[in-house]
Amino acid sequence: MKISQVITHVNGKWKQNCYLIYNNKNNALIIDPGSDPGGIKELITEYNLSPLAILNTHAHYDHIGAVTALIELYGIPFYLNENDQKLLKQANLYRILFESKEVIKVPLFDQNLTQEPISFLATDFNVEPILTPGHTQGSVCLKINDYLFTGDTLMEGGVGRTDLPGGDKNQIYKSVEILRSLPRGTVAFPGHGHPFLLNNFFDKS
Ligand SMILES: [Zn+2]
Repeated sequence: MKISQVITHVNGKWKQNCYLIYNNKNNALIIDPGSDPGGIKELITEYNLSPLAILNTHAHYDHIGAVTALIELYGIPFYLNENDQKLLKQANLYRILFESKEVIKVPLFDQNLTQEPISFLATDFNVEPILTPGHTQGSVCLKINDYLFTGDTLMEGGVGRTDLPGGDKNQIYKSVEILRSLPRGTVAFPGHGHPFLLNNFFDKS
């Protein structure tokens, strides 16, 4: 059983990438649901997917807007690293920074995303979270089979911002070094912008 597809749903002012990754049984994981629960629901219906969980790379306002609605719709767990719990609670305080007036329904902290791999019963999803603090204190990259969901830690053009709440420049560079040891053929799916191969990132920088 192979993972067949990754769907990217670009949403909101910051063109955030919400990803749906699914296998040939249509089991799906939802990564970083941004601001558009209706659009995500439509995709889930269109592709006939069964969502298993929501996994967040971090808790910035532009990455969590649709989490509560999806939990209510599908009754699925929500994973986030505990070091972003405070940021999660305060998400609406920072909406001005993200140039939005919309108050989002902040989800409750549910499952702690640790370095411990997560497997989902009767699926081939092998989620290996890699703790990569720096963009936020609880930033995590998610290695799922041969893919790496990098959130705002690593993007096509460079490392993520560290001037937003929770950011730490020294930390993010240490975290990026951890990613350097991953297979270079790994496809990285960032929180904003286009996917890229890790070798394109590391062998040019
Ligand atoms: Zn962010």
